[in-house]
Amino acid sequence: MPRSQKSMTEQDMVCRLFGVALESITDGPGIRFAIFAQGCPHFCHGCHNPESHDFRGGYEYDADELIRKILSDPLLDGVTFSGGEPFMQAEEFAYIARAVRSSKRNIICYSGYTWEELLEQADTRPGWHEMISLTDILIDGRYDNNQKSMDLRFRGSRNQRAIDVQKSLKTGEITLFDL
Ligand code: SF4
Repeated sequence: MPRSQKSMTEQDMVCRLFGVALESITDGPGIRFAIFAQGCPHFCHGCHNPESHDFRGGYEYDADELIRKILSDPLLDGVTFSGGEPFMQAEEFAYIARAVRSSKRNIICYSGYTWEELLEQADTRPGWHEMISLTDILIDGRYDNNQKSMDLRFRGSRNQRAIDVQKSLKTGEITLFDL
């Protein structure tokens, strides 16, 4: 959308995407709009989306257009950020997450960073604090092919945790979410 058509409250936020799934039932509980970030620094052996690693790949997409699509679908329970690595575009994804949570939908975020790494680096990485604070469930950690399991719901390897972010922030202790 051209800049001149933006409203006063909208910003020029552009995401670099690997892809989207409009009504996914495989990226977390319920019906979800899944947004796959382009670009990943982790290079996990056995990654299912190796085409998502190149930070110059994928395509650009207006964040407000994504928000409009999400808010216009009454079937959605929430939005899932996956990748690629969503935290490499934390300001853009936090911008989307803010609008999604205002509409009473929830946010699941996949990250190759562990919960501990995210908290350790949050002070120096733009948007990380906000992204963390706007997330309901974090699936954390790199995919480990040696710990691959087909029995896990919405996770690829046993080291990855489903973390209840809001409870964990409140108590200061990691609280796992029962998926
Ligand atoms: S963090 Fe995810 S997208 Fe990145 S290499 Fe690992 S499995 Fe692939």
